Amino acid sequence: MLTILDLVGRTTVFFEKCGVPQPRLDAEWIIAHSLNLARMDLYLQFERPLEEDQLAPIRKLVKRRGAREPLQHLIGFVDFFGLRITCDKRALIPRPETEEFIEILNEKLSAEKPLRILDLGTGSGVVALAFANIFPSAQVVATDISSDALQLAKENAGTNKLSDKVSFHLGNWFEALPQNEAAFDLIVSNPPYLSPQEWECTQKEVRNHDPKLALVSENEGCDHLLDILTAAKQHLCPGGLLAMETGELHHELLIERAEEMGLSDARGMKDFSKKPRFFLAERPSR
Ligand code: GLN
Repeated sequence: MLTILDLVGRTTVFFEKCGVPQPRLDAEWIIAHSLNLARMDLYLQFERPLEEDQLAPIRKLVKRRGAREPLQHLIGFVDFFGLRITCDKRALIPRPETEEFIEILNEKLSAEKPLRILDLGTGSGVVALAFANIFPSAQVVATDISSDALQLAKENAGTNKLSDKVSFHLGNWFEALPQNEAAFDLIVSNPPYLSPQEWECTQKEVRNHDPKLALVSENEGCDHLLDILTAAKQHLCPGGLLAMETGELHHELLIERAEEMGLSDARGMKDFSKKPRFFLAERPSR
């Protein structure tokens, strides 16, 4: 009879052949998920033999992962900043860099007064919900142009008991906001910033399963970044912060445009892997 350890080994070899980026880790995740175990518990049960009725559902998921469906779609969630975020094809799978981004911004914000936070292009809702969770007194507003994504974001607000903390609006960037919406202390966005050519070169998981709308922007990936930057000042409080995730080559152009728009302290920051990734600028206090 096949033990858990045998199955982890065989699945890892199969995933390697299929070009799955983290074959052993994904094998463990899928097997643990199917057996209703935490991944670390597998290690305590390696010698456990598996019955045929336990193997059948695992085989199905292994086949789908071998065909390069993202792990997060197969297990149905990612854990993000203490929240469990449901993932499916309606919105981008939240990325570790975005978690890093929230950590950076969290250090910059003070909760002395209730903050007003706007998340543009909220997708699964992950950024808006993380901030609503960190700052319970904040007023958080989230927008997206995709009604499917917005529906998923609302579901994630519900499962994380944050529905009364975030308001959701459908539409293109700032156009989604209700008329006369007050200004924000933080405007945050992880907008689409891949050029069409970069998108062609992404992994199969990304190209075939993340919504293209969430990833691609014309004009070398710049269009959406510039649209947001150009309109941001009038929606920021004096001293308010604009923060966006970007591609590696965008910072110079964004810094130039920020200065033209009368924003101050425009600067790029690198992520954990030392790639230029985050862009920040402020509305001057007076
Ligand atoms: N804000 C969401 C995230 O960071 C969605 C971003 C997007 O769809 N481009 O995951």
